[in-house]
Amino acid sequence: MGNKSDLYRLQEIDTTWDKVRRRLSQLQNMSGGSEDLKKTRDQVGATESSLGEWQRAQKEAELESYSLTERIEEAESKLMSGEVRSPKELESLQSSIDSMRRHKESLEERSVEAMLKVEELNGSLSTQQGKLSTLEQDWDSKRQTIDDELRQRKKEFVYLKRLREQTVEKLPTADLEQYEHLRRRKNGIAVARLEGDVCNACHMEVPRSVISEAKRGNSTITYCTGCGRILIGG
Ligand SMILES: [Zn+2]
Repeated sequence: MGNKSDLYRLQEIDTTWDKVRRRLSQLQNMSGGSEDLKKTRDQVGATESSLGEWQRAQKEAELESYSLTERIEEAESKLMSGEVRSPKELESLQSSIDSMRRHKESLEERSVEAMLKVEELNGSLSTQQGKLSTLEQDWDSKRQTIDDELRQRKKEFVYLKRLREQTVEKLPTADLEQYEHLRRRKNGIAVARLEGDVCNACHMEVPRSVISEAKRGNSTITYCTGCGRILIGG
């Protein structure tokens, strides 16, 4: 048989090629790790950055409180020194000290709050890191399998591409165009094969005249009366 069997061969190559392509894109998606792994990585990142913010906040509150302590001490020694005599000035100095003390208290509260938050986040981080480390280890063993298959499938992809080019070269342009046209319209399957008197793509019974035409060893293309695909004798 001439062109007809080449068309069927092309169909087989394309069907396999489609499968390989689908699997390749699946593997590509898998190669970044599981959803759980990605989520846990994100969680660890978010906890680390939040921890950093609270640590900075705690440090800032402590530094500010420290410098305020010095200023309060200065103001108090000025008050005690007897340098300031005017009642109005004394009153203003005292009120300034009171206000600094209140501010210092709120800073200390903020510092404690930040410290507790830091402790809490450190706890969460250690739990999340433990989970991440288990997931990463688990993933390491799977990644090897995925990478191996990915390499194998890429080889198959290249092999099928070459095989397709060789097969396409043998076909008349008109047949090839008809094939591509049907493949687009018929869900990727342009060529069907007869199984007894039934088309193996649409499972419809085919008239005797069409069967004998499909089985004839010439290059004339026969179409299934059921689905319109190119029909090849069994
Ligand atoms: Zn059919």
